[in-house]
Amino acid sequence: MKIGNLLYTGKAKDVYSSENNDNVIIKFRDDITAGDGEKKDNLQSKGECNSLISSKLFEVLEEKGIKTQYIKLIESGLILSEKLEMIPLEIIVRNIATGSIIKKFPFNKNQEFNPPIIQFDFKNDEYHDPMLNDDIILALKIANKEELKEIRKISLQINDILSKFLKKKGILLVDFKIEFGKNLNGDIRLGDEISPDTCRFWDIKTLKTLDKDLFRKGEGDVMDVYKKVCKLIVSEEDLKKNGELIWH
Ligand code: UDP
Repeated sequence: MKIGNLLYTGKAKDVYSSENNDNVIIKFRDDITAGDGEKKDNLQSKGECNSLISSKLFEVLEEKGIKTQYIKLIESGLILSEKLEMIPLEIIVRNIATGSIIKKFPFNKNQEFNPPIIQFDFKNDEYHDPMLNDDIILALKIANKEELKEIRKISLQINDILSKFLKKKGILLVDFKIEFGKNLNGDIRLGDEISPDTCRFWDIKTLKTLDKDLFRKGEGDVMDVYKKVCKLIVSEEDLKKNGELIWH
């Protein structure tokens, strides 16, 4: 597949045009950042690893009827996706209290949220991604009431589907961040990625961290753990097809 022009470059991914104007090609880079971009590194094979994990999780969601921008994995590191105009919201779904929420509010560390909490942050580097509420979202015209309702509903469905799928793999879905966009018809689709860069994954038995928190805290070998997560989530067949570069 021919990769077109670079359309957009983010902290860990690049977006290229594709031969078909309705689609884009997303390249997962090895860059990793934390703390509002202050901490940076480049971890060999991280891009490939996250593209395989994200592809699998998007496939699981599509199978359960969630509409996403995902079309297919071209090769490890490259995903063909439907072109979206992204909505500048970071939708954070929380099942367990940890991270920024326990710094901002008097929750007990590791307390369970039942029902899960949905938090909206403004995806805006200049303003450092502040937390929003519905009225601010409406006043800023980021989304309208119906869209917000739809985003909430889909986000909870995604949480249910992924929590169940990951549980079978021995992973506890603690919290995660997702992003939505609108396709050329104006329909809302799940976009971006779902990976250890954007989720908190804990080992279901030991509660050990299996995600970017290791990098944030400077603990352990981040890639060792990402590869372990990749092996837990991605089928052996898909790993053989697409993962050679990672495992050699
Ligand atoms: N998250 C993300 N990108 C962001 C902020 C958060 O992917 O810019 C994810 C993060 O990995 C975690 C969840 O959203 O799974 C909740 O993050 P939190 O608000 O606790 O922020 P943190 O403590 O990571 O700063």
